[in-house]
Amino acid sequence: EANIVGEFGRIMGWADKYRTLKVRTNADTPYDAAKARELGAEGIGLCRTEHMFFESGRIDAFREMICSDTVEERETALAKILPVQQKDFEEIYEALEGNPVTIRFLDPPLHEFVPSDEADIEKLAKAKNKTVSQIKDIIQGLHEFNPMMGHRGCRLTVTYPEIAKMQTAAVIRAAINVKKAHPEWNLKPEIMIPLISELKELKFIKNIVVETAEAEIKAAGTSVEYEVGTMIEIPRACLLADEIAKEAEFFCFGTNDLTQMTFGFSRDDAGKFLDAYYDTKIFENDPFVKIDREGVGKLMEMACELGKKERPNLHIGICGEHGGDPSSVEFCHKIGLDYVSCSPFRVPIARLAAAQAAIAEKRN
Ligand code: PEP
Ligand code: MG
Repeated sequence: EANIVGEFGRIMGWADKYRTLKVRTNADTPYDAAKARELGAEGIGLCRTEHMFFESGRIDAFREMICSDTVEERETALAKILPVQQKDFEEIYEALEGNPVTIRFLDPPLHEFVPSDEADIEKLAKAKNKTVSQIKDIIQGLHEFNPMMGHRGCRLTVTYPEIAKMQTAAVIRAAINVKKAHPEWNLKPEIMIPLISELKELKFIKNIVVETAEAEIKAAGTSVEYEVGTMIEIPRACLLADEIAKEAEFFCFGTNDLTQMTFGFSRDDAGKFLDAYYDTKIFENDPFVKIDREGVGKLMEMACELGKKERPNLHIGICGEHGGDPSSVEFCHKIGLDYVSCSPFRVPIARLAAAQAAIAEKRN
């Protein structure tokens, strides 16, 4: 633990002796992953894959995929991303040195991915052999008034299953390569599907994941164990958690979206009317900072209970911003989560808060 030394290191060592809650990190670059490891993260609880698509060339390929007419064309476009995506995951696995890594499939608001610039639209038209006005029509067809409530997360995979195929192949190929280089590591990819609201969605996507993963493993003539789990971030998923647990091997609460959708408050518009609203003290805390125990927390408790009733060994974590907030960490301990996952610099606070929660529980 390069960055945690001296007295502070000693205190953190004590904290680790008492806590039962594991602390993971949210990281999607090898740099952040390594930083979080130095600060004591025991794994990655959320590797968002959205930003990876903005790197050179990839966004062009993604846009070509969206403007394709056939499955074959879509697969051809995504094949350009596969090798670089595989490399992303290899680097992350290397940085984590065999500790668990949960890779979440693509969850963009689609409007951030489509081109708005005339030059980009022209480039896309050329690549797809279409006219500029045909491309504009496609873009117009994808326009949404509420993108955060729309065509994102698993919904994107339901309409473009080729994305799940490509990302599964990248995860499995990366795991096979890293396993070869480090046979001593216990590498077990965890694939997480975002924005699930019911069993049928998860089944649909899990089928694609399993089919693709098995084909990759067979082609490589090796064996890889992997898990498929889901974000729980829509209130409906909490209500149907027993059904969803029939297929999900783990749950991870996305409390950013769960708070947004439980309150009907926009997570992207904090600081506007919400600040004035909190000032009225109608709410004691900003629910985007501390888990609202009466609503969001209740849904989480319900999801844990229902999920474990169906699958007693279900692993459950949290990867919303609340995973690094001490009072929320205490709540996560109380309801029996296995881990919290937070941004790298909040890992030490989460370790302390988890220890405090365990000690407080013993005292009571
Ligand atoms: C969440 O919704 O809490 C979450 C972790 O996912 P994201 O912030 O990427 O939507
Ligand atoms: Mg989310």
